[in-house]
Amino acid sequence: MDAASENKLASVAPELAARVRAMASALAARGITIRVVSGLRSTAQQAALYANRASNRNPVAAPGTSLHEKGLAVDLSWSGGTSAQVGAVGEVLGLRWGGRFSRPDPGHFELTGVGIASAVTFEASPPAPAQMPIYASQGSALYAAQPDDTIFYLVIAVVAVALITRY
Ligand SMILES: [Zn+2]
Repeated sequence: MDAASENKLASVAPELAARVRAMASALAARGITIRVVSGLRSTAQQAALYANRASNRNPVAAPGTSLHEKGLAVDLSWSGGTSAQVGAVGEVLGLRWGGRFSRPDPGHFELTGVGIASAVTFEASPPAPAQMPIYASQGSALYAAQPDDTIFYLVIAVVAVALITRY
């Protein structure tokens, strides 16, 4: 991620920052670059945004009600992909995606209560590779075991045939 994005991630919840970095890595592998355009906001900053909400193409929460004020939300921009692709990767990583809000906010990702709770066990028990398309490299490492097994059984078969045909 670029320096400006890292700068913004430095002031949000570490677990959120970690997931956004994971999003960046997963999406970069697909040629999609994300940037953090907004992270933590003071109540005064949220109030200023709210006052000008008519000129904002995205919905703006009232001051005191935004997770940005708690360092639990980021707004992202991206190039090279669609909001659906970026949203899907964020959701796989346990973030709540604003693209599903009743007034969609596709750049918005937040760490919910569920996300915080699951953060504790996330490292210890990642979901199965089949449900985690972004972990394709890990998945292919698992699938790579299958050709080895095939060779193993082929060798046994060849040895068995050699033994049988000897007698
Ligand atoms: Zn937001």
